[in-house]
Amino acid sequence: MSHLPNLDHYWLPFTANRQFKSMPRLFKAAKGNYYTTIDDRTLLDGTAGLWCVAAGHGREEIASAVAQQLRTLDYAPAFQNSHPLAFEAAERLAQFMPQGLDRIFFTGSGSESADTALKIALAYHRVTGNPLRNKLIGRERGYHGVNFGGLSVGGIAGNSKSFGNGLAGVDHIRHPLDIARNAFTRGLPQDGGIALANEFEQRITTLHDPATIAALIVEPMQGSAGVVLPPVGYLKRLREICDKYGILLIFDEVITGFGRLGTTFASDYFGVVPDIITCAKALTNGAVPMGAVAVKREIHDAFMSNSPANAIELPHGYTYSGHPVACAAAIATLDIFTNDKLVERSAGLSGHFELAAHSLKGIPYVKDIRNMGLVAGIELEPTPGRPGARAFATYLKCYEMGVLVRYTGDVIAISPPLTIEKHEIDRIFSCIAEALTELAAEGEQGMDPTRYLKNEQLWAA
Ligand code: PLP
Repeated sequence: MSHLPNLDHYWLPFTANRQFKSMPRLFKAAKGNYYTTIDDRTLLDGTAGLWCVAAGHGREEIASAVAQQLRTLDYAPAFQNSHPLAFEAAERLAQFMPQGLDRIFFTGSGSESADTALKIALAYHRVTGNPLRNKLIGRERGYHGVNFGGLSVGGIAGNSKSFGNGLAGVDHIRHPLDIARNAFTRGLPQDGGIALANEFEQRITTLHDPATIAALIVEPMQGSAGVVLPPVGYLKRLREICDKYGILLIFDEVITGFGRLGTTFASDYFGVVPDIITCAKALTNGAVPMGAVAVKREIHDAFMSNSPANAIELPHGYTYSGHPVACAAAIATLDIFTNDKLVERSAGLSGHFELAAHSLKGIPYVKDIRNMGLVAGIELEPTPGRPGARAFATYLKCYEMGVLVRYTGDVIAISPPLTIEKHEIDRIFSCIAEALTELAAEGEQGMDPTRYLKNEQLWAA
């Protein structure tokens, strides 16, 4: 049992702080597919941290690469200077990207990657003589992080409504949830994809002049919005429409990158190559903050050939772009992906994972199950007037049973490390089944969060 820290000063992100501090959930160690909490619980990690610890926790290879880098070169100025590892990390990452997207801009997170991608798209049209292409299109329910660009093209009202107007010149198209919500059908929704994509064309031709649109940004598979799968043909049709009107297509692969769907990137899964891919999270296995934007070579080269020789081609970047320690972590992580064949492992487990997820059909409150690769969303019947309350209670029950799941709205989202074993996959879903069955038996009482995680030795009941 560890000491409980003073909880007053730290303001937690995306957290109900007062509730959290009344029942803190603090981790003190992690190894493989498990966390240890400060009150000595062992939790099976059903969420790869926050979708990021793809190679499992506590990887020695990453720890020693990071430690050695810190001792050798802790930091190098990112502007007008650099260091060899940044070039090596970019070259290695380019080899993981779909062919042609081999120019890499480093950032510090998924949010910074989204804003960087949007800025590159806007600047590209200017540098190629099309300054009127200055509108950005996103999707309802889209999540592209929390910085103003990503927030503006994103479509989760709860995330943006506190912060005013966001970027001007942004529009949103419909999301595929109604099609994806397919009542327990396995695999991608078969119908409706082309019609839904055609709505994009209709919108830009009727509400806008398509010659004013710079880029469309989509998550190939939406995670944060509750695991929303793209219907068959949808992404390919979006690509065709973008090509027809000279619009850049950006895939936000912050979640779907690095094997999550059983292919290296979702772009590979769907056979659709965007102009720009954003990534982060599993790039360093979550060990050090880092994101990246991969850009088609032609786009990069347009900046190089259309700017004066000594000019800064893109006036954008971060103090921590290509940070030496992050680069060391990224290279070590990419080595693990290659050596441990993690993408192949993910693909090999996805059939078992699908069956385990769909074993929840018929369990109380389960309204839909959506899955792809090693991601599943279990949508629950909402509690009237209390959105997300049942999912929260399920999360707490699973925590008490030793399994970490994630909830977003009324959806339980599962995205384990790609190192997960079959028996651990079974345990995650049987734990959810048990939690929901208990909740159904307990009624209102089971929904009361104050009954969970009591630990009088550590915090007041
Ligand atoms: N884009 C997508 C699709 C994400 O899922 C996330 C985070 O979950 C982000 C962007 C933002 O990443 P970060 O939290 O690293 O800024």
